[in-house]
Amino acid sequence: MTVDYGHFPDLGALSEFIGDCQRCPLARCRTTLVFGVGKSDADVMLIGEGPGRNEDLKGEPFVGAAGQLLDELLGSIGLHRSDVYIANIVKCRPPNNRDPEPIEIETCTPFLREQIRLIDPSVIVTLGKFATQWVLQTEVGITRLRGRRHEVDGRAVLPIFHPAAALYDQSKRSVLFDDFRRLNVLLDAELGGPAPAAQAGESESAADKVTDSGAVTVSAAGDGDDDPPAAEAAQGTLF
Ligand code: URA
Repeated sequence: MTVDYGHFPDLGALSEFIGDCQRCPLARCRTTLVFGVGKSDADVMLIGEGPGRNEDLKGEPFVGAAGQLLDELLGSIGLHRSDVYIANIVKCRPPNNRDPEPIEIETCTPFLREQIRLIDPSVIVTLGKFATQWVLQTEVGITRLRGRRHEVDGRAVLPIFHPAAALYDQSKRSVLFDDFRRLNVLLDAELGGPAPAAQAGESESAADKVTDSGAVTVSAAGDGDDDPPAAEAAQGTLF
């Protein structure tokens, strides 16, 4: 089932329509609905999973520990959160940070789809499994998809690990900084003109190149010897 709430003239009208949303069970346990934040015509949109405790209290995405790391990652390529737009797969906090249920994703993502249409970003960065699998409409795991350019309806999509994963697994931290370097190369290719210099100071292991066609080729997207081969770039239509 795909829910269609229709089109809205701008983000304000969409937010007003969502209102004090009671459309799915998450409404019962949330404190604040987290609509999304950032530049309304951003070239880059980041999509996370769902609000955590801090986000639920503040009404803004990525304001906790994972958000601090996200700010660092953005800063490593000369970006600030005000340069991008940040939203989540679900707008209300799943209790105890459990995974969002399919019915919750189904009910909430038409709003995200509309946000994407209105913001019209050139590049979507999906943070973690849920955002990646929804945007790419795939069951393939994030480890196989991350660090490569995919494409959905003419938009470049770069899946990366969720920043929260790096809080528990330090090895993912350098992978995330490497993937932000890839994002910088991708932005250069998609938007033209030099991207801000990467200042991550992280490993130079991945020699990214932009081909004549504008595709980013990534020499070392794997994060370990036992990493399965990366999936081919996905093409699809969702938006
Ligand atoms: N994790 C997410 O996926 N989104 C947030 O907004 C915060 C943490």
